[in-house]
Amino acid sequence: TESEKHNEVAQEHILGGVNSPSRSFKAVGGGSPVFMERAKGAYFWDVDGNQYIDYLAAYGPIITGHAHPHITEAIKGAAEDGVLYGTPTRYENQFAAMLKEAMPSLEKVRFVNSGTEAVMTTIRVARAYTGRDKIIKFAGCYHGHSDLVLVAAGSGPATLGSPDSAGVTKAIAKEVITVPFNDIESYKQALDHWGDEVAAVLVEPIVGNFGIVEPAPGFLVAVNELTHDAGALVIYDEVITAFRFKYGGAQNYCGVEPDMTALGKIIGGGLPIGAYGGSQDIMETVAPLGPAYQAGTMAGNPASIRAGIACLEVLKEPGVYEKMDELGGMLEEGIRRHAKTHGVPITLNRLKGALTVYFGVDGVANYDEAENSDGEMFARFFKLMLEQGVNLAPSKYEAWFLTTEHTKDDVEKTLEAVEAAFSKL
Ligand code: PMP
Repeated sequence: TESEKHNEVAQEHILGGVNSPSRSFKAVGGGSPVFMERAKGAYFWDVDGNQYIDYLAAYGPIITGHAHPHITEAIKGAAEDGVLYGTPTRYENQFAAMLKEAMPSLEKVRFVNSGTEAVMTTIRVARAYTGRDKIIKFAGCYHGHSDLVLVAAGSGPATLGSPDSAGVTKAIAKEVITVPFNDIESYKQALDHWGDEVAAVLVEPIVGNFGIVEPAPGFLVAVNELTHDAGALVIYDEVITAFRFKYGGAQNYCGVEPDMTALGKIIGGGLPIGAYGGSQDIMETVAPLGPAYQAGTMAGNPASIRAGIACLEVLKEPGVYEKMDELGGMLEEGIRRHAKTHGVPITLNRLKGALTVYFGVDGVANYDEAENSDGEMFARFFKLMLEQGVNLAPSKYEAWFLTTEHTKDDVEKTLEAVEAAFSKL
C-alpha cells in the first residue's frame, strides 16, 4: 500500500518512523501505521484513498471534529495577521477570561505550548510555593514526558518510584511517590510516611490514560482533605479532561477544586497549546512576579490562542455535550449487546462521549486492572476495525472519543464493524 511505502521512507529518516511513540503499531503487533492524507468532521482519508470514521480525535484535542469551519476561519485569520509576535495580544486576555469563567479556580493563568510543559511547570511552582521537593502521583497516569513524571511504581501500595525511562536519574525518581488510583488507604499511608516532604499530588481527576476511569465516590474530596492537612497542594492534570465531559473541567463536573490545574489538548482547537493556573496567591510565585521561572518563545502565540477561542465557542453552543453523551450511550449499548451475543469478555468504561473497551477483564478502576486486560485480543480487534474503516488508537489503554461531528449513522456503521470484528475474535 501507499501507507507502507511512506512508512519505509519514514523509517529511513524519522526515528522509529513516528514523531510520538503512541502512533507506532508496536503495541498492536507491529505493521505499518496508516498515513492519513486529509480529515474532515468525523472522517479521515488515507494516502490509499480509504475512508475511516475517526475515534482517535488526535488523542483528544479534536473534539469538534477535523477542520471545523469556525476553527479553520480563526486559524486563517491568525495566519493572515501574522502568526507570532513576541508581544502580548488582546486574544490572550480574551482566552484567559474565557478559561477562568469556565473554571473559576484559574484566578491567574499562563499559556505554554504543550501539556508536558503545563504539568512540568505546576510541579515547579508547587515546589517553590511549599519549599518541599517530593510529589505524589497515581500509578498509570500519564502527565507528559518531563523527567519527574516518567516514574513508575515499584511494588507495594505506596512506593518511591524507579525511573520509567532511561535518562531519568534515580535521584529524580526518589522525589516521586506512586500510589494506586482510587485507593485512599494507600494515599493516606504515603502521606503518613512522607507527608511533610510532599509539595503536591498530581491527579488526573477522571483518568484518561489507562482508559476512562472515574474516581470512586468521595475519592477526590478525600485526596483534597488529606493533601491540605499535610500542607501540600493538589494539582489536577486536566490536559485530557478539560472541556471533554462538559464546558469546564472535570473539577467542575466532579465539584472538587484543586489548587492548581494543568491544561492542554482541546483548549488549542488542534494547534499546540498548554496552560496552567491556580489561585492568585500560588501563581504569584511565578516570574516576573515571583522566583519560579517559566517562559516560552511560542507561549500564547496568536494562532493557537485564536484556534482555542474558536473551539470553546463551538463547545459553548447548547446541546453539544448532550449529543456526544447520547451517541456515547448508543455505542456503549451496541458494543455490550454484540459482546454478549458473541461471548466476547469485555469491560466497558464510559463517561459521556468517551469510552474504553477492555478485553478479558471484569471491571477496571485502577492501572493494574487495565494492565491485566488482554492486549493480544485488543490488537486483533483494532486491526479488524481498521480494515472496516474505523480508526481507533493503537493501544489497549486508550479511549474512543466522540466529536460534535459524529452522527447516529456513523455510530450504526461502527457497531456493524464491531459486530463483525467480535464474530471473528
Ligand atoms: N497530561 C495528560 C493527562 C495527558 O493525557 C497528556 C498527553 N496525552 C499530557 C499530560 C501531555 O501533553 P502533551 O502531549 O501535549 O505534552
